[in-house]
Amino acid sequence: MLAAGHVLHVTSGRVGIALALKHARIGAGHKVLVPAYHCTSMVEPVIWAGAEPVFYRITPDTRIDFGDIERKLDGSVRLLIATHYYGFPQDLTFTRAFCDRHRLLLLEDCAHAFFGSDSGRPIGSTGEYAIASTMKFFPIYEGGCLASSKFPIDRIPLRDGGWKFQIKSVVNVLESSMAYRRLRPLGLLLRILLWLKSSIWRLIKSQKADVAPHGAGPGAADGSYDFDPRWIDTAMSRVSRVILRLAGQERVVTRRRQNYEKLLRALNALPGARPLFPALPANVVPYVFPLIVDEPARIFPILKNAGVPILRFGEFLWQGVDTKTCAVSADYSRRVFQFPCHQELRAAEIDWMITMIRAAVLGTDRISETTKPAKNS
Ligand SMILES: *Cc1c(COP(=O)(O)O)cnc(C)c1O
Repeated sequence: MLAAGHVLHVTSGRVGIALALKHARIGAGHKVLVPAYHCTSMVEPVIWAGAEPVFYRITPDTRIDFGDIERKLDGSVRLLIATHYYGFPQDLTFTRAFCDRHRLLLLEDCAHAFFGSDSGRPIGSTGEYAIASTMKFFPIYEGGCLASSKFPIDRIPLRDGGWKFQIKSVVNVLESSMAYRRLRPLGLLLRILLWLKSSIWRLIKSQKADVAPHGAGPGAADGSYDFDPRWIDTAMSRVSRVILRLAGQERVVTRRRQNYEKLLRALNALPGARPLFPALPANVVPYVFPLIVDEPARIFPILKNAGVPILRFGEFLWQGVDTKTCAVSADYSRRVFQFPCHQELRAAEIDWMITMIRAAVLGTDRISETTKPAKNS
């Protein structure tokens, strides 16, 4: 993403979508093509812009179903959101040609693909616009970006989020690092600081005056799918910028790929489950490890209760999107589980996760509380 062109650092990926639509002057009377396999935070900015989302189908390998899009084209469709699911890029040469042929703008949704390339071009550099969710790849509280290889969107003026926001971004990073035991040598010092923080934080909260009119942190950073337009012109926090600059990008790429390969080897031939992507091409840097399971309703609660960090992308589809809209999307929103392959996972944690997943899928053993590590990550 950082090589995609002009880059504007904001507080979430959804803000990036909203800014792209605004820059392209897409609004009332226009339609935007959104994949039927989505999270609602991809749709909210379209509604905010006043445009109508048109949901298109994907194929079982999560590729865009261009035949379906062709049937939906009319004079009012302006832009195609193309999502690189789980880090695996769409065919961008074909997608670009398709958009040019039909006079559509292309927005690459790189929320799952901060890194990677397609046909030798960096991800995010083929569309007029690209967005990413920086916080999905780096240990930061908030952060997303809008990139453009065409337009100098980095000149869009942004404002500072205010001191509460800056402090909250720092505190949250420290708190998460502590909770997941990633800063052991500094642990004691941090515990003291965090103890102080709870008192300071109470004081801060009690202060009415604040430079930020929108509260201390964006909902996007706290797990909400809503789009809060009050954050549209706020810059990513200073601490997020520093972490983004200091994080060894090579290491993020290498470790995520290694962790994915490990999960792939362990879960490849499991009866009742199969990896959505059974190979990891050299151009891909995975977001998570997606696994298709046959019995989601039985397996999900077992893993959730055991403390395995399990999520379902598209668990909540936009109202009205169902099997008729896209059978694959409706199916995947239930049956595709995603497991982390984060760069900071330790070998023992991945091994534990694999043991839990295997047991749950096979239904062999009952996962007992005692096998649960003190802190799940
Ligand atoms: C998370 C996500 C977004 C939105 O990113 P935020 O940073 O959460 O706003 C957009 N598209 C996809 C595919 C996502 O997974």
